Amino acid sequence: MIMAAYDDQNIFAKILRGEIPNSTVTENEHALAFRDIAPAAPTHVLVIPKGKYVTFRDFARDGSKEEHSAFISAVADVVEAEGLSEDGYRLIVNNGPNGRQEVPHIHMHVVGGRDVGPMLKRWNKDES
Ligand code: AMP
Repeated sequence: MIMAAYDDQNIFAKILRGEIPNSTVTENEHALAFRDIAPAAPTHVLVIPKGKYVTFRDFARDGSKEEHSAFISAVADVVEAEGLSEDGYRLIVNNGPNGRQEVPHIHMHVVGGRDVGPMLKRWNKDES
């Protein structure tokens, strides 16, 4: 499986190495959840695997079952800790250029605490 090359200098790699601070919400053996520095809603938490994976596909294909399980559990832990279950929330994973991924270490945004608005604008085939 061809994986995107992992950049050890990306900001989340530095967070995982403890080189820059983060506001941790929860952590387990294989995943870390911390608050987004520029929140889009009252709750905006990023969940990342601790392994070196750039995209969702990389993580899905090359992560272990234990890593997958720990990642999903961390997302659920955030939902519960932030009290999002009842009113709902949105999970977002941006991948690559078309997905507008800014940080090349796979992360899931957990966004809630308010109505987060419509999903994406409807696609107009006449637009580029
Ligand atoms: P994406 O566009 O999906 O790659 O999202 C990257 C996210 O990382 C953005 O929402 C940023 O606000 C967030 N971010 C960037 N640097 C940090 C940081 N040092 N701590 C927490 N969140 C960050």
